[in-house]
Amino acid sequence: MTLFNKIKEITEIQATSGYEAPMRDYLRARMMELGYTPETDGLGGIFVTKESKTENAPRVMVAAHMDEVGFMVSSIKADGTLRVVTLGGWNPLVVSAQRFTLFTREGKKIPVVTGGLPPHLLRGAAGAPAMPQVEDIIFDGGFMSKEEVLEFGIRQGDVIVPESEAILTANGKNVISKAWDNRYGCLMVLELLDYLKDKELPVTLIIGANVQEEVGLRGAHVSTTQFKPEVFFAVDCSPATDTFGNDNGRLGEGSLLRYYDPGHIMLPGMKDFLLNTAEVNGIKTQAYISKGGTDAGAAHLQNEGVPSTTIGVCARYIHSHQTIFNMDDFTEAQNFIRAIVTTLNQEKIAAIKNY
Ligand SMILES: [Zn+2]
Repeated sequence: MTLFNKIKEITEIQATSGYEAPMRDYLRARMMELGYTPETDGLGGIFVTKESKTENAPRVMVAAHMDEVGFMVSSIKADGTLRVVTLGGWNPLVVSAQRFTLFTREGKKIPVVTGGLPPHLLRGAAGAPAMPQVEDIIFDGGFMSKEEVLEFGIRQGDVIVPESEAILTANGKNVISKAWDNRYGCLMVLELLDYLKDKELPVTLIIGANVQEEVGLRGAHVSTTQFKPEVFFAVDCSPATDTFGNDNGRLGEGSLLRYYDPGHIMLPGMKDFLLNTAEVNGIKTQAYISKGGTDAGAAHLQNEGVPSTTIGVCARYIHSHQTIFNMDDFTEAQNFIRAIVTTLNQEKIAAIKNY
């Protein structure tokens, strides 16, 4: 399967926070095909433990998150339209005039669109329309009444997930899809498990994906207390700012070295380890200072302190139906995580901690 086909398959899966089963089932099936035995944590995170034969091998975790941003139905109106609350961060300006899938409790998939205000209705209005609030945006499945909505099994609490087909850009280098945040990480994890199938390492690796990252890094608290890693690597996708005239996160410039975000500072020992590993292995990297967060922010505060970082890539316009990202960046990040897990040993981990 080509890289694009793998990306298409994994980004078109629809799974939002708390309702990650479609993504978890996919991960479980692929993990088992590769000969691993995955386990889940109490909230639904899924992980494979690849035990080292080395005595007292340090435990190292590599974790994606499997949820994508979505919505939950908060009310059903008499006219048959729906209103929602957000699951994860949404810019109201990218919510309107899009296509979504609503999942009912019985597992029915219902097509829904968000109402856009046609220009005809704006004619004659005084001044520019105000910034929309997500709770006012109309989610419309074409139902004629509340009764009809209920007949189709739709209830408050059902989730709504973006629907968007992944395509290649004309130059064949980039992809347009939804949810590269963080199906990037999920694909990284599966490819890493494939690469490590027949390798024996001096560290025990716990590799998989957390739940509920988009609503506040919740799954990472749970999985790190269950699997007790000494060192933690999130694999996650961050916003590119190149098209906005900034230099944090440029497409095609390689994997991100995430030195700072509001919830995490990369410690000097980790910085040395990453820079050395990238140099020795010829990995293309770029510095990244972030305004957002990743599971590294939650993980590093667990179990008496867990040195953590994020092995990331950037994508333009994340948390929307149409993000753009570079396939070579994925390959760089993939080579980077391979080099990291095969370089790590007791001594290297001691150096990361004793900076
Ligand atoms: Zn995100």
